[in-house]
Amino acid sequence: MTKQTELFERSKKLVPGGVHSPVRSFKGLHITPRFIEKANGAYFSDVDGKDYIDFCMSFGPLILGHKDEEVEKDLQGALSRGWSYGACEPYSLDLAEYLLEKLPFVDQLRFVNSGTEAVMTALRLARGVTKKNKIIKFNGCYHGHVDSMLIKAGSGLAGSAEASSAGVPEGIANDTLILELGDKEEVIKCFEDHKDQIAAIIIEPLPANNGLMIQDQEYLEFLREITKQNNALLIFDEVISGFRVAFGGMAQKTGIRPDIVTYGKIIGGGLPVGAIASTNEIMSNLAPLGNVYQAGTLSANPLAMVGGLSTLKKLNDKSYETLEENGKKLESIFSKWLNEFNDGQFSDYNLTRSGSLFWVHPGNSIQNINQMPQNLNERFYELFEVLLNKGIYLSPNAYEVGFLSLSHDQSVLDDLEKRLWS
Ligand SMILES: *Cc1c(COP(=O)(O)O)cnc(C)c1O
Repeated sequence: MTKQTELFERSKKLVPGGVHSPVRSFKGLHITPRFIEKANGAYFSDVDGKDYIDFCMSFGPLILGHKDEEVEKDLQGALSRGWSYGACEPYSLDLAEYLLEKLPFVDQLRFVNSGTEAVMTALRLARGVTKKNKIIKFNGCYHGHVDSMLIKAGSGLAGSAEASSAGVPEGIANDTLILELGDKEEVIKCFEDHKDQIAAIIIEPLPANNGLMIQDQEYLEFLREITKQNNALLIFDEVISGFRVAFGGMAQKTGIRPDIVTYGKIIGGGLPVGAIASTNEIMSNLAPLGNVYQAGTLSANPLAMVGGLSTLKKLNDKSYETLEENGKKLESIFSKWLNEFNDGQFSDYNLTRSGSLFWVHPGNSIQNINQMPQNLNERFYELFEVLLNKGIYLSPNAYEVGFLSLSHDQSVLDDLEKRLWS
């Protein structure tokens, strides 16, 4: 019995399914989840001593790779000063100033502890500001495990919805309107059907939680226009895309100004940080200035603030050029291998990529969840296992994207090629 089989058996007695977040359980993969003991750069190794090129990167936060030396040093400095005060401190100011200077489309922000928390606050704020209740969400976009976002398209009319998780009351599901990505007519009709009731549209401007579904610029501009016309807010959920596709995320890349932006993942560099950002006017509605309540015992945790700043300070224009260049190389290495491996076992696979985000999948690129390939899970499991055995770790789920970090340099890409063909 391997060490990780033992650990998984032990863990299953302690927590449901043996995990603290469902995707980690390797559900459906028929193999034991890898228990990671340590990590460095683009690699991590499991408790049984096998090492992997990590293309999951903690599901996004680690844009520098694991255990960056400068970040480690800054974190050690922070540790030596204590790690939670529950009072005002200077460290969050440094991070906030650094961010706001580089994100010209927002004036203020507030730090929270996760992407989910950021979204939860953004929705409450949008409702508080507009004094309306309904939120438009797109099928296939993920916004964390907020009750009102765990909603899928209902079987009834366009826009009708039902909970995608048990425990979400119907009353909450009723205020979320589910539409299909890319369908403008549906959005227009939805605003007509629910006149003066829609507080906001929330979207991942680069949907990356159900494969990678790259949207047209023009469609995102349309969403900006129609929200303006209807006194509704546009929320960009940039928990993945923020600091990933450009420092200023999709708002920078598209030049579109959302009313509220949510951040997470990279903003904490691997420590638990999320943020909600907007204009002075909208942000002034948050407590203690305004009457939209929001709070957090560990918010702006000094250790996390230092980790976030230390990480973000290392990102510049060159970083994004490098990520793009290496993304291109990765794409060509993978594509060739997919095409040729084992007499074409994966030759119907393709790689969809935006900068350092990539999704390996059978069939063509998609822009909406209804175009999802058939038998995606079964096909993915074959691929995932082959790669895992070769010491290449993808996110352990067919719908999750892969992440390149700045540690995935030429030598790692050479190693990838070697491992693929081994
Ligand atoms: C990961 C993610 C979230 C949730 O963030 P957590 O930190 O996991 O709570 C929300 N929105 C998007 C777009 C995400 O990718």
